[in-house]
Amino acid sequence: MAPLPSPVAAPSIAVVGGGLAGLAAAAALADAGCTVTVLEARRRLGGRAASFDDTRGGGLVDACQHVAMGCCTHFLELARRAGFADRLRHDRTLWFIDPDGRRSACTPTRLLPAPLHLAPLLFGMRHFSWGERLRLGAGMVRLARARGAEREETAAAWLARIGQPPRVIALFWQPVLESALGESIDLVSVAAARKVAVDGFLGHPAAADLHVPIDPLGVLFGERLAGWLRGRGVAVETGCGVTQIERSAGRAVAVVHAGGRMACDGVVLAVPWRAAARLAPDIVPEAEERLAASPITAVHLWFDRQFVDLPHAVLVGRVSQWVFRSEAEAGAPGEGYCQVVISASRGLLGGDRAALVERVVGELREVFPGARGAELLASRVVTDPTAVLSVRPGVDAVRPPAATAVPNLALAGDWTATGWPSTMEGAVRSGRLGAAALLAGLGLAAPPPVPDLRRGLLVRLLAGGRTG
Ligand SMILES: Cc1cc2nc3c(=O)[nH]c(=O)nc-3n(C[C@H](O)[C@H](O)[C@H](O)COP(=O)(O)OP(=O)(O)OC[C@H]3O[C@@H](n4cnc5c(N)ncnc54)[C@H](O)[C@@H]3O)c2cc1C
Repeated sequence: MAPLPSPVAAPSIAVVGGGLAGLAAAAALADAGCTVTVLEARRRLGGRAASFDDTRGGGLVDACQHVAMGCCTHFLELARRAGFADRLRHDRTLWFIDPDGRRSACTPTRLLPAPLHLAPLLFGMRHFSWGERLRLGAGMVRLARARGAEREETAAAWLARIGQPPRVIALFWQPVLESALGESIDLVSVAAARKVAVDGFLGHPAAADLHVPIDPLGVLFGERLAGWLRGRGVAVETGCGVTQIERSAGRAVAVVHAGGRMACDGVVLAVPWRAAARLAPDIVPEAEERLAASPITAVHLWFDRQFVDLPHAVLVGRVSQWVFRSEAEAGAPGEGYCQVVISASRGLLGGDRAALVERVVGELREVFPGARGAELLASRVVTDPTAVLSVRPGVDAVRPPAATAVPNLALAGDWTATGWPSTMEGAVRSGRLGAAALLAGLGLAAPPPVPDLRRGLLVRLLAGGRTG
């Protein structure tokens, strides 16, 4: 490994990739006094958390609705600092709609300590018998206590093995884990499922709150976050794909892009793993073969009226998983826009988009009475085949840490070893970890850590310390 140089006063850092990981890294590096340039290949920032122009004249529409949870402390802190936290709607009630169309409003209480705060959420699930609700609660506790080799089983097999009733698996674990992890419960590890149960539900009374963007992601990240970064002296170049990271004497010395060459004191490589493997094949070799992605599909629907009378709903036991009503001005005046999100959507209805739209519209008509007379004006199906990292058993052993063998080259991205699933929170955490690793490699101090939600005492006894 090359020796550490004496710290440079304001090192010039190239952040390759303008997704949330790169933008979070840029923020942390600017905090530490670096001169930062973000180089993003696409025209817009935000990476996978992106919007497209509605060709029907309705403005920006998110390729897929994104949601953060209360446990996403790093993402929420970035939103607060960059001034868009007020554009995240705070839903404390989780709405479930069961196969018979019955609605359950499930709200954790702030009056009881964790994990007892979940009692009203659990008991609010009207689609389960009392026995099923108790078994579900017991399954959640059992998951928090899963240890060692158990954590490397697949969630579906493990849930069946510990005796969770099939209805509880199909109508709770499947929709909740698949939407939180973006992957089928037949494939995700118990470790990943446990992360959702402990950090996303049991750990803290605010953990399961939803924070739902009410402005397009293109505005939040492409304008608000980017504008805030520019105001802090970060240069942001879009349409600037990096083709090479030049190295000399074991250190990164420059990045090469279509517009030229930028000499630098350090690089944070914040691109998806396949792009990272192309730019640094010696650093990201195996990940290319050993990491897998999971697809997510969003079905965009424009009707002649708005009929979704809930802020969001989890449709259990159906093809449609989550439905979101638009808060932004998507669609022309007088129209009603809504979006249905389906995680782990590989092979969905054989890839037949028309059949998918028909099925989803049919399901909406079954659960929202107002939809029955509504006319569908337009639809669009958007599938991202590599939406998220598939968090299968063994994946944590393959996810690389931020620090690399090149002391002034660090990795970031939701696929790196953050301990979090592939989410906005995971991306922001990875950006901070990448910045910290790079600063350490340059002999500089990292910005102070962002605190996690503090697990309640009972949860610490049940699941162990603050993390893990
Ligand atoms: C359909 C879908 C739904 C999702 N839903 C949610 C959700 O509800 N909640 C949640 O928390 N997360 C969700 N996610 C996950 C979340 O979007 C990602 O985890 C996060 O945005 C990843 O950020 P990133 O910066 O790590 O990667 P990316 O967003 O992929 O950013 C990497 C960037 O690098 C750029 N790049 C690549 N190569 C180069 C190069 N050579 N030079 C310069 N730039 C380059 C890319 O253009 C891209 O902008 C969803 C993702 C998808 C796709």
